[in-house]
Order: sequence, then C-alpha cells, then structure tokens
Amino acid sequence: MNILVFAEQIDGSFKKSAFEAVSYASQIAQAHSGNVTAVVPGNVADDKLAELANFGASKIVSIKHDKLNGFNAETYAKVICNTATSENSGIVVISNTYSGKSVAPRVAARLKAGIASGVISMPNTSNGFVVRRGVFSGKAFADVNLTTDVKVLAITPNTFNTIENKQAVNIINAESGLADTDFTTQSVEINRVTGKIPLTEAEIVVSGGRGLKGPENWHLVEDLATALGAATACSKPVSDMHWRPHSEHVGQTGITIKPNLYFAIGISGAIQHLAGVSSSKVIVAINKDPEAPFFKAADYGIVGDAFEIMPKIIEAAKAFKNS
Ligand SMILES: Cc1cc2nc3c(=O)[nH]c(=O)nc-3n(C[C@H](O)[C@H](O)[C@H](O)COP(=O)(O)OP(=O)(O)OC[C@H]3O[C@@H](n4cnc5c(N)ncnc54)[C@H](O)[C@@H]3O)c2cc1C
Repeated sequence: MNILVFAEQIDGSFKKSAFEAVSYASQIAQAHSGNVTAVVPGNVADDKLAELANFGASKIVSIKHDKLNGFNAETYAKVICNTATSENSGIVVISNTYSGKSVAPRVAARLKAGIASGVISMPNTSNGFVVRRGVFSGKAFADVNLTTDVKVLAITPNTFNTIENKQAVNIINAESGLADTDFTTQSVEINRVTGKIPLTEAEIVVSGGRGLKGPENWHLVEDLATALGAATACSKPVSDMHWRPHSEHVGQTGITIKPNLYFAIGISGAIQHLAGVSSSKVIVAINKDPEAPFFKAADYGIVGDAFEIMPKIIEAAKAFKNS
C-alpha cells in the first residue's frame, strides 16, 4: 500500500509534526509492506527535504513554487491530491495542525476519500480499517471504520513519537500543475511571533489564569517558562482582559495542546479550559483553593498562594538548570 504524507514546512524547515506524520506512515507501511512518499509544497532545500528520509520516507516529492511558500488550503489540497493520484496512494496522512485541519477535508473531498480527523491510534486492520479519534474536545473516543479505497488520516500532533527509520533519499522535483487562476487568494502580510517556542510545538507549557491578578505579575509565568525552556499560555478570561495575547489562550475555544508537562497556575480548571489541555502527559496545578476542579485533572497539585509558591519553583528550576 502506498502512503502519502503531507509534510508541513514553515520558511523551508519542517515542523516536528511533519516528522511525526512520516513516522506514523512508516509504521503503517512496515505493517502492510508499503512505501511512504512525502509531498512538500514550497521551496525547501534538498538537505532539509532529506531529513524526512530519516523517519521512513523513501520518496520525497518536492513541489518548488514561490507561490506555495506560504500555506494556502486550496492550492495545497490540489497539489497533495495530484501527488496522491500520481503515486496511487491508498492512505494520505496529514497532521491535524491548524493548516492540516483546513487541508485534510479538502483533500478527502477531492479524492472522494473517507476521512478521520484527530486520529490517536494506528489503524487496526483485523476487521476493516479502524482508527480511534478523540471527540467532544478529547472527552471521549470514537472508533471509526474507513471503507473507501482512499483514506485520509489527520493525526493529532504530539501523540505519536518520531521514530528513526533511515531510507535512501529519492527526491523528485515535480511541477505544481497549478495555473495562475488557482491562486485565488493572496497573503498580503504575515506577522509571526518571534523568539518564542510555538505553543503547539512546546514540550513544556507554563500557563496562568485569573488567579495571577493582573499582567504586571506575568513575569512569574515568564521566569518559570524561561528557566524550563517552556512556552507560555493562559486561560480565556486572561486573554479577553488583554493581559495576554489571544494566541496564548488554550481550551475549547482556544488552542489545543498536548505537552509533556503543563503547569496551571491560578486557573480554576473549568471544563472549557480542560478541553484544550487535559491530554497533557503530566499536569501540575497550583491553586489556593483546595476544591479547585483542576486538582481532579492534575497529576500533581500544590495548594497555596501562587505568589508565595512561584518564586520558590522558579528558584528551584534555575538551580536545576544550572546544576
Ligand atoms: C463557550 C465557552 C467557551 C470557553 N472556552 C474557554 C477556553 O477555551 N479556555 C478557557 O480557559 N476558558 C474558556 N471558557 C471560560 C471558562 O468557563 C472559565 O471561565 C475560565 O477557564 C476561567 O478562567 P480562570 O480559571 O483563569 O479564572 P477563574 O475561574 O476566575 O479562576 C481563578 C482561579 O485562581 C485561583 N486563585 C486565585 N488567587 C490565587 C492565588 N493567589 N494563588 C493561587 N490560586 C489563586 C482561584 O482559586 C481560582 O481557582 C469558556 C467558556 C464558555 C462558556
């Protein structure tokens, strides 16, 4: 079975989720005597493209085109579908990132393929083609059987490990097959947050809620994040009150994250917040209210005043870092 992976890049470098997607596809390929091809829209240097071969891609289809350097759901879906057709791919693996979420349904519609998004398991092919996906903001699971010839799997980032599986590099430079009329929208300006670890990629996240009282106290969150090499996040009211930018708001209406370690400081643990963070591997909650709901979701809980506890944790984290 041929498996195609859409390997997402930003400014010519791959995201961690791209390596996860290739590793995931490679495991399916190994179980079903298949090949993994990665498709990369945009101008990526060959030595960068070759990184995908470390995780099991035996063929890399590079579609170099200036207008594909920035993500565009319509044109990306087109080139992914063209490649899936020319490669005779039975499965298309896409990471369920912001970009992946918008491109995967378009790819499925064009290929008339069944789609499962938010996939959190390898396919079980003992009776059909069954994958498990998270539903209701991660509160429940659904096992779905894909019965179409072509299947699109949008896998949840930070769920599958990257696994080294070195292949010989076979890089093909393909034409985009796009005409000028395919580019119906144009990005005029992109402003990126720089110098920070992106929330969705972070292994450790330090997050603050209304319990921190105001933006003037956020140095506590930032100092701990700096000491731990972590990204910073916040609850919805905090961003609504403009203490922090909306790009940091996690939860049902914000970003869903799955770091290895999540610090929740002065956050009550409302269901809408937990929806975005409860899949974190280890959760540490700091709250002065012993009845705060977060303690039920947390692996470790510290009951006390964040303004007394935080400086001690920051000091310990700095000492640990320098040890
Ligand atoms: C449709 C909908 C969608 C929503 N989506 C989201 C979402 O995506 N993300 C999100 O976060 N919320 C979301 N909410 C809001 C959510 O319901 C909660 O209101 C919100 O998460 C509460 O934020 P908070 O915990 O920071 O504040 P609060 O509920 O005010 O809790 C503050 C906490 O800090 C503790 N505290 C106070 N002082 C201290 C101190 N000195 N030291 C330690 N602890 C202290 C308190 O005991 C309390 O537990 C949504 C709500 C709705 C209705």
